[in-house]
Amino acid sequence: MIAGFGGAMQKLALLCLLTIAPFSVAQQYDIVIEGGRVMDPETGLDAVRNVGITNGKIERITQDHLSGKRVVSAAGLVAAPGFIDLHEHGQDLASQRVKAFDGVTTALEMEIGVPDVAEFLKSKEGRSLIHYGTTASHVAARARVFGAPLPEGTILPKSGDATDRAATPEQILEMQKRLRDELDAGALGIGMGIGYVPGATRLEVIDIFRVAAERKMPVYTHMRSEGRIEPGSAIASTEEVIGAAAITGASLHIVHINSTCLRDSLECLSLIEGARAHGVDVTTEAYPYIAGMTAVNSAVFNPGWREKLGIDYGNLVIPNTGEHLTKERFEELHNSGNQQWVLIYANTQEMVDKIIPNPLVMIASDGAVGHPRNAGTYSRVIAQYVREKKTLTLMEALRKMTLMPAQMLERSTATAHKKGRLQEGADADIVVFDPQTISDRSTFEKPMEPSAGIHELIVSGVLLIDQEKMVPNLYPGKGILGPGKSH
Ligand SMILES: [Zn+2]
Repeated sequence: MIAGFGGAMQKLALLCLLTIAPFSVAQQYDIVIEGGRVMDPETGLDAVRNVGITNGKIERITQDHLSGKRVVSAAGLVAAPGFIDLHEHGQDLASQRVKAFDGVTTALEMEIGVPDVAEFLKSKEGRSLIHYGTTASHVAARARVFGAPLPEGTILPKSGDATDRAATPEQILEMQKRLRDELDAGALGIGMGIGYVPGATRLEVIDIFRVAAERKMPVYTHMRSEGRIEPGSAIASTEEVIGAAAITGASLHIVHINSTCLRDSLECLSLIEGARAHGVDVTTEAYPYIAGMTAVNSAVFNPGWREKLGIDYGNLVIPNTGEHLTKERFEELHNSGNQQWVLIYANTQEMVDKIIPNPLVMIASDGAVGHPRNAGTYSRVIAQYVREKKTLTLMEALRKMTLMPAQMLERSTATAHKKGRLQEGADADIVVFDPQTISDRSTFEKPMEPSAGIHELIVSGVLLIDQEKMVPNLYPGKGILGPGKSH
């Protein structure tokens, strides 16, 4: 009886083998991340797992052994969704490279937008390390309508008529038309740098929000003003855009609450919290540095900026050279047609330390060449707030860098449901890093130093950073497009 049973078992085993064998061959994944601490802020998964990736998708997350054409050992490392930066001006390859070494798999120009969406998307196709996308630019549309289109490669206008004068009703209609065309070209919403076009009336702002609302797209905004002087305080600026969102129904994302609201940042956050509690869809973000950076010939530096910001000429510093401006040097640069960037020292470490852990605040870099936030934002948040100050858990930090921006992007495109998650079926955009050593190395003196501690970066299922080194000649970044033009 025992022998007979054994024979039956053998047959069964053989049958199983025959059935399973072809299946096992099919389960050879493109890449397997083995034995990493897999963290997913949406499901709360925080456990050692193996991750199987095929055709750019996460196919399997399991405790079982997985075989892959390429196996990445992640023992002792964290595997998380790739970071999503909603606010990255540096769309050049050098910036994308340092973003990748900071764990970023998607970096979008949402604050201001680009002057020509179709041209931007065409220039990036097949030539991008990480995923890219943009909003339609109100500032650029306004400059065009005023007959002073932005020079190629720039996103901010020089202070002048196009920034400082009120538009006629006809000009506002023309801007609306241009923005609709830009949304048709694949923009992910409308970027409004209101502070860069102070001539825009409250009504112009509402009329632009109306275009976003009509297309069910969000508005991203750099608000009208900073500081406490009324009229035109940071509080009034926050009220203005929350009001426009409430009036029109457009979703609203307020960029860099830290550098706009400065010492009133917590008050601004309480306004956002109140608006949300009463049904207005408004979100915000911050970066972990005390200095801002922008073009010194922009309208942000129109007369009155020292009083508004509570700073002086010497608080403006030229990146790289470290030159502090004087009144004479400021006048020269402000009046110049050449766009010079300046660092603006107007915030305190104490305030930044209060803003970053706030649960409403996403992390976004506002990156551009010249400021260390371009290369170091994400590693710095983990190093400083998770590891050193312990004011955030690692999962909370990851939520601010992955799930929250993905959810914001869902207002623009359904494809974002597959981003910012480390789950079966999600896009294989994954960062593998050492939680003990991850840290920023960029400084105001050396702003393009890549961060340390990112072991692997997978973009659309392609291993872009492999054992802490970038693999050359790979361009796995794809365009993230609005419904006007979805792939
Ligand atoms: Zn800004």
